[in-house]
Amino acid sequence: KYRQEIFYKGDDEIAKLGSSIQALGEQLQYFEDSRNQFLSAVSHEIRTPLTYIRGYSDVLMKGMAKDPEENLKYLDIINKEAQRISFMINDLFEMSKLQVGQFELNKEQADINRIIERVASSLRPAAEKKGLEITTNLESDLPYLNMDIHRMEQVFYNLIENGIKYSTEGRVSIRSFLKKSLVIIEISDTGIGIPQQEIPLVWERFYRVDQSRARKTGGTGLGLYVVKQIIEAHDGDIQVESMENQGSVFTIYLKNQ
Ligand code: ADP
Repeated sequence: KYRQEIFYKGDDEIAKLGSSIQALGEQLQYFEDSRNQFLSAVSHEIRTPLTYIRGYSDVLMKGMAKDPEENLKYLDIINKEAQRISFMINDLFEMSKLQVGQFELNKEQADINRIIERVASSLRPAAEKKGLEITTNLESDLPYLNMDIHRMEQVFYNLIENGIKYSTEGRVSIRSFLKKSLVIIEISDTGIGIPQQEIPLVWERFYRVDQSRARKTGGTGLGLYVVKQIIEAHDGDIQVESMENQGSVFTIYLKNQ
């Protein structure tokens, strides 16, 4: 911590410079603290799947699996956990770009409905595999918005994929419409929902409602964090409403500049 008394006191230029340096120091300390917290969260997140991988590969090497079926089961766990790490690294990479401010938006005038349709089509096979439907109800003639198409695709990908991941039946529906000067997009699902008290937390890095449930669905807890960063970088807003066992609605508000 920086201490006030090391600086020259008074109200002249040197004192002003002194307090600027102090403020800067405090800020650096803040970044340092959050960086440390972040690094320890990342190490923890990576250590968990690694523990599984090491444990189960040990069992296999020692020939301790009862039969070929059990063998396969352990290999499957190893494979899934390795995949988890690789998803996490992808997400982390995306996130680090978002954070260092080098996250430059490559903006251009674009039709948001086209982006939504493209992402919805790419996720339809995954939804159908689970017996879910993806439906779109997009208002035609929405104004073109100035946005980074690639990042915006990522937003819809993460949200629709979550809708699929956290639903066992029903559908994920996407609706877009214009209200006054806002383009509004709703992504709703008929899934498991989010407990009321946890709703504000889902935007945090690595936050997952239920660790064991999240483990089965293979999440990293970074998806919504990334979504929020991207929407805010577009000067937009995103909110969620949810009811347990009924579903969730994520609503994005973008200004029609
Ligand atoms: P994850 O990779 O775990 O899905 P996210 O950041 O995308 O991470 O989401 C954080 C947590 O919020 C999830 O683990 C899940 O518990 C909850 N969540 C996100 N989207 C939904 C949804 N559509 N329905 C229910 N729960 C959700």
